[in-house]
Amino acid sequence: VDEFEIIRRYFTPATYSDSVVIGVGDDGAVLRPTPGMELVAVADTMVAGVHYPDVLAAADVGYRAVAVNLSDIAAMGAIPRWMTLALTLSAEQPAWLADFARGITQAAAAFGLELVGGDMTRGEQTVVTVQITGEVLPGQALTRAGAHPGEGIYVSGTPGDAAMGLRILQSGSKPDSGGAELVQRFARPTARIALGRALAAHASAAIDLSDGLFSDVEKLLHASGAAGCLALESLPISAPLLHAVPREEAERLVLSGGDDYELCFTAADTEFLAAGEVAGVPVTRIGEVREGRGLHCERHGQLCEFRDDGYRHFQ
Ligand code: ADP
Ligand code: MG
Repeated sequence: VDEFEIIRRYFTPATYSDSVVIGVGDDGAVLRPTPGMELVAVADTMVAGVHYPDVLAAADVGYRAVAVNLSDIAAMGAIPRWMTLALTLSAEQPAWLADFARGITQAAAAFGLELVGGDMTRGEQTVVTVQITGEVLPGQALTRAGAHPGEGIYVSGTPGDAAMGLRILQSGSKPDSGGAELVQRFARPTARIALGRALAAHASAAIDLSDGLFSDVEKLLHASGAAGCLALESLPISAPLLHAVPREEAERLVLSGGDDYELCFTAADTEFLAAGEVAGVPVTRIGEVREGRGLHCERHGQLCEFRDDGYRHFQ
C-alpha cells in the first residue's frame, strides 16, 4: 500500500467536530478556535531506540506519542483540541501500522483530540512527532515562572514507576503483576489534563515530569528565580516500585528516573489540596520554595547529598 492509502486507511478520522473546517486531505488544516480563547502549541518527538525500546508494542508507541504531548498541554493548564502527526517509518509492517494507528486513535478519543493532518516519510529509524494545539482562557495558562518563596512543591501520582517499567521492559523478563503495572506506567503514561485544568486557578507554577523529578523541579525554580528543597522522606513511592527495588534505589528512580509525565506544581494555598487529591488525582507535598537559587534535598530537615543523573540528550 502506498502512502496515500495508509493515510486514508489509518489516519483519516471518520468525522470531525465543527471546529475542524478542513482536516486531513488538503495542504493544511483549517481550524476554528473557540472565540476569546488563547492557543497553546506543543510538539514532542519520540525516536525508536532513544525514547522507547524497540520491544514496546506498536499500539503503545502510538498511545505514548500522544500522551507525552498531552502532558505538556496539561502542564500549561490547557484543553487539548487538535493534533498533527509526522511519521518517519523504517521497515514497519502493515500490522505494526494498524496497531500504531489504534494507539493514536485511542489516546485521541480519550482526550477529545482531533487528528487534522501530518506527514509521512521513510527513514532509517522510526520517528514519531506529534504536535498538539490546545486552548486556555486568556491569561490562565500555567507557566514554570510563577513560584514564590514559602509555597509548597507538589507532585501528582508516583514518579519513578515509569523508569522502573522501562527497565523491566528492557530486561525482557516476564513481569509479575506489580511489574506489569510499572511497565504500563511507561507504555501508557496518564496525561494529567483534568488536574492541569483544576490547577490553572490555584497553582503559581507548573511543569510536567519528563526528564526526572529533580531536574524538572530545578527548571521550574530557575524559571521562577527561586530556590527550593525536596524532603526525601515525603516522596510518594508506589508499592510496586518498593516491591521491585530497595528504598534507596526507589528514591533515586523517583528523583532521576524520568518518563513520569506527572505534574509538579507550586501553590501557596493548601485548602484546595487538603484532601491530598485534586481532580481525582493523588497529589503529595514534597518540598518547599525558598529564597535564592538552586535545588537541594533534605531528609527530616537535614541536608542530604544528591547527585542527579537525570536524562540529557546533549551533555
Ligand atoms: P503535502 O505533500 O501537501 O504535505 P501529503 O501528501 O504529505 O501532503 O499529505 C496529504 C494529506 O494527508 C495532508 O492533509 C496531510 O496533512 C495528511 N497527512 C499526511 N500524513 C499524515 C499522518 N501521518 N497523519 C495524519 N494526516 C496525515
Ligand atoms: Mg502540501
